[in-house]
Amino acid sequence: MAGERWIAETLFDELGFRMTFKVERVLYETQTEHQNLVLFEHKLFGKVLMLDGATQVTTRDEFIYHEMMTHVPILAHGGAREVLIVGGGDCGIAEEVLKHKSVARLTQVEIDASVVEFSKEHFPEFTGPVLADARFDLVIDDGMNFVRKTDRRFDVIIVDSTDPQGPGAVLFTHEFYAACKRCMGEHGIMVTQNGVPFFQPGELVSSVGHFRKLFADAACYVAAIPTYVGGHMAMGWAARDPRARSLPVETIAERYAVAGRFATKYWTPQVHAAAFALPRFIAEIVEKAKAG
Ligand code: SAM
Repeated sequence: MAGERWIAETLFDELGFRMTFKVERVLYETQTEHQNLVLFEHKLFGKVLMLDGATQVTTRDEFIYHEMMTHVPILAHGGAREVLIVGGGDCGIAEEVLKHKSVARLTQVEIDASVVEFSKEHFPEFTGPVLADARFDLVIDDGMNFVRKTDRRFDVIIVDSTDPQGPGAVLFTHEFYAACKRCMGEHGIMVTQNGVPFFQPGELVSSVGHFRKLFADAACYVAAIPTYVGGHMAMGWAARDPRARSLPVETIAERYAVAGRFATKYWTPQVHAAAFALPRFIAEIVEKAKAG
């Protein structure tokens, strides 16, 4: 209808597939130093943020990805004090990490200062508690530079990046993963945003292939996120201690109890354990990557 605006996600154009949103209102639109950014209101998903034509976060389904990228590695580690987020612009992951009182320090390394600035105004539900927390520090830098140079050691690294295009491409390289390993503690765990295997199998094969060469344990776990369209979303898993991935549900539940049973809407100890049980086609992608 005349006057109606629909915004399409162009991430899968090569596949001849587009998810399209009917826009209630555009709240913000700009070309930053690094990427195209648009924020709009949607009837079902609330506020929707897109960077370079790829959906990043919506207020309605953000909890799924943010909880699974955070509580799985932190409770699997069991003693995480130093946590690093690479990317994470909107601070949705940081908000979940800081629910863990055991975390002494959280550093977020984001390349695009304007994403954080704009999130202060448009995602105060994330940035408000995060920027008020003394444990949080923000570094504006390319994640590759930071992990290559830092002399700090992290228990958990969460790579909440854009897709392997533009500024995000370097975060899917062997060089980046090797630099992350260098700054991980003895029982360190790294998790990565690793795309939707049904549409992006190559992304998972490539990352798990790198993990296999660098870490004692290389795998992925999954969750279904409505606006990361295409079925299961894969979260890459690279760990220095192979036992961390197969903890009994009882142990995960005990650690959650010690952490204060903070509120969640998706993550549970049972969902945590089950997320590593992969559908066969995804398990075959991971095995192919491990076979090298
Ligand atoms: N959850 C979203 C997803 O799955 O697509 C990602 C959310 S977050 C907004 C992604 C952030 O990664 C963006 O703010 C982007 O600026 C940042 N980013 C991209 N490349 C980066 C790099 N090389 N170093 C640090 N941050 C980077």
